[in-house]
Amino acid sequence: MTAPSANTPPQPPKALSDLATLSARVGADPLLIQAAGGNTSVKDGAVMWIKASGTRLSDALSRDVFVPTDLPAMREALVRALPEADQPAHFALGDSGLRPSIETSLHAVFPQAVVVHVHCVNTIALAIRADAEAALSARLGAFDWAFVPYVKPGARLALSVRDRIGPRTDVIVLGNHGLIVAAETVDDAERLLDRVTGALAEPPGAAPAPDLAALAGLAEGSAYAVPPAQSPLHRLAGPPERLDQAVGGSLYPDHVIFCGVGATALDAVAPRVPGPDGPVFVIAPGRGALIRKDASSGAQALADCLGNVLCRVPPGAELTYLSAAQNAELLDWDAEKYRKALDAG
Ligand SMILES: [Zn+2]
Repeated sequence: MTAPSANTPPQPPKALSDLATLSARVGADPLLIQAAGGNTSVKDGAVMWIKASGTRLSDALSRDVFVPTDLPAMREALVRALPEADQPAHFALGDSGLRPSIETSLHAVFPQAVVVHVHCVNTIALAIRADAEAALSARLGAFDWAFVPYVKPGARLALSVRDRIGPRTDVIVLGNHGLIVAAETVDDAERLLDRVTGALAEPPGAAPAPDLAALAGLAEGSAYAVPPAQSPLHRLAGPPERLDQAVGGSLYPDHVIFCGVGATALDAVAPRVPGPDGPVFVIAPGRGALIRKDASSGAQALADCLGNVLCRVPPGAELTYLSAAQNAELLDWDAEKYRKALDAG
């Protein structure tokens, strides 16, 4: 076997087409993936094929979304704490022009061949709770799993995961972030993903129907539009405990990157819609939500995600929010700016 080099792109393994099929399925489910979030990988000897930054898993069958990377070099950079460990483009093989996912190191620490990382709404609804580990334990007793408290995605998170996994751990819940499953084959990874997401599934709680006429009146002449009646974003407008949870701060990284820090509620009695520089979306208490007319598809997906997450959290549950420093490090992040720019294009 020829050693991989930056000039000779490796041949895709057979498992990559199976992974593309699984990725497209997972990527089309807004309860598992929103916009360009999440990523999948398969290891083939010294090469790890991973979803490229800014591409969407849902496109895995219609375009190239996977990029080969030099797995031993990536692992060595992690172990030696080299700065390249946070620059996955450094490990890309071939000349596809694609950049490996910013979460490449997260995949490299698993010994298993196939790794699937999703921003599963049901997982996040538990992983944002102050009692996340206990709440997850009650549902994941049948699995060899571990909980890793929030760390900004990248090499530091990969090392935290590495330190928490045993030789057979194949389910990881990332605090305030999402879910990882690992297996030797794509089929086994898919079955494990289905079992874990099934164990964590929670039906959405009740929410009042949006008052579309009132919302249209508020939006008139503004930079905002009324999302469709079925949009999960409207669920943030009530009951009051859910609205309080929504405006308490930021709950996971992609929300910050696509929708900004936290969420904004309008005054309940005299709502005034912000000007053209306002937040991506605003919540009108008891009425529903408005979203900027110029919101990217990624921002819309992440706005709906917050509705989907919080309607699965018990009213009054105490939540863990990202700190001001954690919000700031997400917003000042070149890799994420690149990803967001691709998403907007
Ligand atoms: Zn992630």
